[in-house]
Amino acid sequence: MSDSGDSLREIRINPIVPTESVLVATARGMRPKKAEEKVDRDTRAHVEACPFCRGNEERTPPQIRSFPAQGDWQIRIVPNLYPVLGDDRSQTNIAFGLQQVIDGYGRHEVVIDNPSHGIALHEMSQQHLADLFGVYQQRMDELYASDPRLKYVLIFKNFGPAAGASIAHTHSQIIATPVVPENVQNEVQHSRDYRRKYNHCVFCSLIDEALTYEATIYDRESGQIRRKINVGQYVVERGERFIAIKPFASRFEWEIHILPLHHEADFLRADAADLADFARVLKRTMARLDRVVGGVQYNFFLHSVPHGGEYGDCSDSYHWHIEICPRTSIPTGFELGSGLFVSTVSPEAAAKALRDAEIDD
Ligand SMILES: [Zn+2]
Ligand SMILES: [Zn+2]
Ligand SMILES: [Zn+2]
Repeated sequence: MSDSGDSLREIRINPIVPTESVLVATARGMRPKKAEEKVDRDTRAHVEACPFCRGNEERTPPQIRSFPAQGDWQIRIVPNLYPVLGDDRSQTNIAFGLQQVIDGYGRHEVVIDNPSHGIALHEMSQQHLADLFGVYQQRMDELYASDPRLKYVLIFKNFGPAAGASIAHTHSQIIATPVVPENVQNEVQHSRDYRRKYNHCVFCSLIDEALTYEATIYDRESGQIRRKINVGQYVVERGERFIAIKPFASRFEWEIHILPLHHEADFLRADAADLADFARVLKRTMARLDRVVGGVQYNFFLHSVPHGGEYGDCSDSYHWHIEICPRTSIPTGFELGSGLFVSTVSPEAAAKALRDAEIDD
């Protein structure tokens, strides 16, 4: 066991969902996973044949809304041409033997993030990013209000083919589902258990820890101090109201989470000042990521407290956040078969590289 960060081999438990764990294995002898897959980003501002570029609006289904509502749009929401869920079905649950089916009812929409074809998130203005998350908020609110069968609204972005993006023009997606997805369910349940046990929000505890404590890791058998870690080393970026953290048990080498510093379960309750600070932290975080692993393919998704389902009030135990998951390797059979993610870069080394990256102000 070494402190240097380049020869770690340990299993780390996700403190939010303790049934999830990550194997951090950075030892030299460890066979490296597939090299970082980067895409040559198409940086063109306008592409004649692109259905998402300005001037080609008739090539998408009729828009659901645009921002601003009048004049040249900055952000557009349109139905997905190839939805994974449809609103043309009656929601029925069927069970036969051990097999159960929930009809694929829901909504699937595309958010065209920006009129500029190949612009990266960190190249968008802070105001534009705040507007984008404001548009997400409005649409999430509308979807929950429109249909009580929609139990969860998930907002996410795929950047690059390995992350699932099929159109190069910058865009994100909104999927509303008749069930609360398992990952959210796990977070909601475990954070509620934690709250009952310790009378505190686990996410807030993690933020406190990242900002203040030095943690001590004890040996399980002997009870001896094995090593101390300065937990502040996981902070990647800090704003007045938001913080970007490298999770101690990161599933992806360059994974980063952004959370409000003050407890809030519901993204819908973020106000204009929150979104402005969030946009700044997101822009700076993405710029750091671009500096360190330029052109990396990634997904991000937004986790907020479910408005549907049978969870009761989770406002004191859940804490909204976004998870940014760069795709630097393809899951192996071991990962798929075991559910144990393998990280070949230590989260401490990754956080340091991100924090040290020089970015423009
Ligand atoms: Zn385009
Ligand atoms: Zn909290
Ligand atoms: Zn989450």
